[in-house]
Formats: sequence, C-alpha cells, structure tokens
Amino acid sequence: MKTITLHPDGLKCPIRVRLLTLGEMKRRGFSTEDFGFCETFKSVHFDKDGNESDPQYEILISVLDTKCGVGAVAHELVHAACSYCRMFYPDEFTSEFWTDAHDEKYMVEHGDAYSPEENPEERLAYLISNMTSEFWTEFYDRGYDKICKPKACK
Ligand SMILES: [Zn+2]
Repeated sequence: MKTITLHPDGLKCPIRVRLLTLGEMKRRGFSTEDFGFCETFKSVHFDKDGNESDPQYEILISVLDTKCGVGAVAHELVHAACSYCRMFYPDEFTSEFWTDAHDEKYMVEHGDAYSPEENPEERLAYLISNMTSEFWTEFYDRGYDKICKPKACK
C-alpha cells in the first residue's frame, strides 16, 4: 500500500496519507463518488489502577488513487487539521463548528454530515480544496512552474 507520513514540526501525532484502489475503497463501504476519507485513532495504556496513560494518536487519510489530486488531498488535510485541533486543543476549539460533525449523534440530528450545506467542517474542506485546485491549475496554465520552482520537500 502506498503511504506517505507527514510530520510537520511540532505535531503530536503522525498524519499518514495512503492511496487506496477502488476495490479497497469499496471494501471499506465507499462508492465510486467518494474520493477519500479521514480517520482518527487513539490508543491508550492502562496502569495497574486502571487509569489511562500514554495516549498515542494517529490520523489516517485515505485517498482513492485515481482521484488523488491537490484538491482531494487538501480536502482531507482540512479534516485532519480539524481532528488534530479537537484532540490537542479541546479547550480552544469549543464552538459548534469544532464539533466532530461525522459522529453518529451529529448525523442523527443534522442529516447528511458529509454535505457542505449541513456541515461547517465540510464547507471549509470543500472551500480550501477548491481554492487549492484552482490555484495550482492557474499556476500551471500560466506557466509559472517554469519561473518558480515549488519546493516539494525540505
Ligand atoms: Zn469531507
């Protein structure tokens, strides 16, 4: 499986991006309309008194390999960033916007939690993914890639 692990400075957990085939996406319950999804994992150890200790976190982004463009990745990275903020800065991200809109309770109360009209996090993710796609399309259409060389990695 093709996986890229992101570890920007200061992050308290890895963010992994893996590319899935259509078959792998379907086995996970996704349709041909979907381009990706983001999951958050937390594992804990329990001490002898039953107290949680040493929590470990991981954010896993999965993107359909045939739809892995800058827009799809930007969209899922927004979900990863929102999830990251909910985990590590819960006191600072307390408004309704920062509620995990993909949890079961939210879906029951609000309907389609994956719709940008129903879910503010989706609205933000689509906005950033569309802006990112538009920027890079314009960047290459105008030939800016021949003038400036984006630095892909450090
Ligand atoms: Zn989304």
